[in-house]
Amino acid sequence: MKLTIMGPPGGGKGTQAEILSEKLGIPHISTGAIIRNAIREKTELGKVAEGYIADGQLVPDELVIDMVSKRLSEADCENGYILDGFPRTLPQAQAMDKIGIKLDFALNLIVPDEVIVDRLGGRRECKVCAAPYHVKFNPPEKDGVCDKCGGVLITRADDVPETILQRLSVYHKQTEPLIGFYKEKGLLADAVGRDSIEDTTKVVLEVLGVKG
Ligand code: AMP
Repeated sequence: MKLTIMGPPGGGKGTQAEILSEKLGIPHISTGAIIRNAIREKTELGKVAEGYIADGQLVPDELVIDMVSKRLSEADCENGYILDGFPRTLPQAQAMDKIGIKLDFALNLIVPDEVIVDRLGGRRECKVCAAPYHVKFNPPEKDGVCDKCGGVLITRADDVPETILQRLSVYHKQTEPLIGFYKEKGLLADAVGRDSIEDTTKVVLEVLGVKG
């Protein structure tokens, strides 16, 4: 299955992508995680991207398109993948079409802005493997430590209140138009997010027609 998960920042894309990735045995590809890793490793991409991320802006399309097409050509993507956070603009979606990437679904996680602002303050991420956590909704077994790899859990630099509002505004302006784009192609699968991760997963599996 080739799938993209869309939705507002903090809407649960990464968490649901992680669950689906394990269930379906296909890789979870998060452009945000790849970019944050590039920033930590101080690569050329990382140096350019750092300012955009900190301001809650999108990284330029050309850079992200190039990064994703390289990642999708790797062997583990042969049987499908779950894209999390890509495409995020119409030019990115059109570039995917041009390269010949055909998705089976564009999963749209619907979560209202008020819920997002509440949620993002408690979000944490593993510094090593990027696994997502939340102090209230998805806490690790041991405070501050990743269950999967033992890495340290950190708060993302862009999860501060001013940047959160900026990211939401960018989402509405630049990413939301993709809903119409994928609806027209007959690929849109709407999933209304619930309060708990498990309930949201049930909705996601149902709209994708995957057995729970
Ligand atoms: P995320 O982890 O998906 O919330 O992404 C964090 C940040 O990485 C975003 O606010 C953007 O600055 C950048 N980013 C991630 N994916 C993309 C993309 N497809 N296009 C442009 N910027 C992106």
